[in-house]
Amino acid sequence: MRFPSIPTLIRTFYAFSNTTLHTAPTFGLRALYQSPQRAIPLRSMSFLGALFRTSSKMPDTTKYPVQKTEEEWRAELGSKAYGILRNQNTERPGTGEFYEHAKKGEYKCRGCDHPLYLADHKFESACGWPAYWDSIAGAVGEKPDPTLGMMRTEIVCNNCGGHLGHIFRGEGNNTPKDQRHCVNSRSLKFVAEDGTVVEDKD
Ligand SMILES: [Zn+2]
Repeated sequence: MRFPSIPTLIRTFYAFSNTTLHTAPTFGLRALYQSPQRAIPLRSMSFLGALFRTSSKMPDTTKYPVQKTEEEWRAELGSKAYGILRNQNTERPGTGEFYEHAKKGEYKCRGCDHPLYLADHKFESACGWPAYWDSIAGAVGEKPDPTLGMMRTEIVCNNCGGHLGHIFRGEGNNTPKDQRHCVNSRSLKFVAEDGTVVEDKD
């Protein structure tokens, strides 16, 4: 499996947070050892590793209708989509085909073609990933995700168990339901009203 390089991760983290690493210390050696800034990059790297690499996977004993071997999934999806859908990786923000995608149609699971979201569910969240305020009824399941040192709620395709992203509630977004399905673009394929199918090219 291929992971982003460390410099790429650092650049990405800059995109996330313009507060942590921006202080460019110009102090001498003595100050270097005393500066609390020095420890921050190490903590940030640990955070980045947890964010973009395979998480410590919780065993999922649910029997989803679509069952395939890991070899079959890997061959069908390719490395990036496999890493996200089957190993809970997260794509880098702003890199997905559907982040600012606003066409009419339906978003399906890239792993099994199960319809997950309608274009009408999508809204602009400026978070770096496609965001939906609701899903097609029953299409998406929820699981507790304790990685990154916090409790989040993972969302999965209820037909194949593929990892989609996470759901956040109570953010005060101006949407019919106050929830944000934060979905990796590479977990999805889009079917336009004229039948055209679009998915990320990697
Ligand atoms: Zn699926």
